[in-house]
Amino acid sequence: MGKIISVCIPKGGVGKTTTAVNLAASLAVAEKKTLLLDADPSGSSAIALGFTPNKIKAGISDVFNHSKSISYTIHPTDLRFLSFIPANINSIKLDERFTKTSENKSVLKNALRNIKTEFDYIIIDCPPILSGITTNALNSSDSVLIPVKSGHLSLEAVDKTFQYVKMIKETSNPEIVIEGIVFTMYEKNSKVTEISEKELKLKYKSYLLNTVIPSSNLLNEATFYGKPLCLYKINSIGALAYLDLAYEIICKNENINQIN
Ligand code: ATP
Ligand code: MG
Repeated sequence: MGKIISVCIPKGGVGKTTTAVNLAASLAVAEKKTLLLDADPSGSSAIALGFTPNKIKAGISDVFNHSKSISYTIHPTDLRFLSFIPANINSIKLDERFTKTSENKSVLKNALRNIKTEFDYIIIDCPPILSGITTNALNSSDSVLIPVKSGHLSLEAVDKTFQYVKMIKETSNPEIVIEGIVFTMYEKNSKVTEISEKELKLKYKSYLLNTVIPSSNLLNEATFYGKPLCLYKINSIGALAYLDLAYEIICKNENINQIN
């Protein structure tokens, strides 16, 4: 199948990496062959999966330099069905070079073409910007998943993402669609949650996914142990919410009726 989903919004700290890592891990738990690709030079996905620099043999910067094939950059993880491509941009010099090479907007698309069919799902963790590597990610993607931090709604960032996806659709990737908007760090019965939800529904109701990700410190804690939450505390509300999100996405994409 090889469905490519970018997790993207131009706002920092809203749960993009947490969503990319835990969604990818949950898809793998459901025995979907999944690849998590870290497209954020800060390399947070590697930390969340316990990839210390000595465990990384190559990564996305090698693909952009054309020094390694993308297949060579794929790393196995603790989950049988989950593979990982790290960002490996760990010096200012590499970062500068990466910024330059990622101006070519189709490097990632061309590279992913060679491995797309090996996976059921490819999840891309984007940085909080809408240029360079993110353009590469969206040019390669079938859809975009937009995480919105509950209670800190930035309608402007959601609007910008929709505008950017529209531009990509019109100029270079006509097939791209919005996978959906998912609330992260959701706090029930809070006034700010209620207000932000209302605001978002006014404009984007049809895009809101059923699953909401609750606020849970365990999601943060698991990162310190280099594990997705399903390998740290499978029966926690955060782990179960990401399994629900994976289930919703599988049902949506594989035409299965969702049973709640
Ligand atoms: P950046 O734009 O900097 O890459 P991001 O959008 O990827 O940020 P994350 O790194 O996923 O955001 O999350 C920001 C912080 O919030 C992290 O410390 C993470 O552990 C924490 N966090 C994410 N989701 C939750 C949640 N549901 N409950 C509690 N904390 C969370
Ligand atoms: Mg991130």
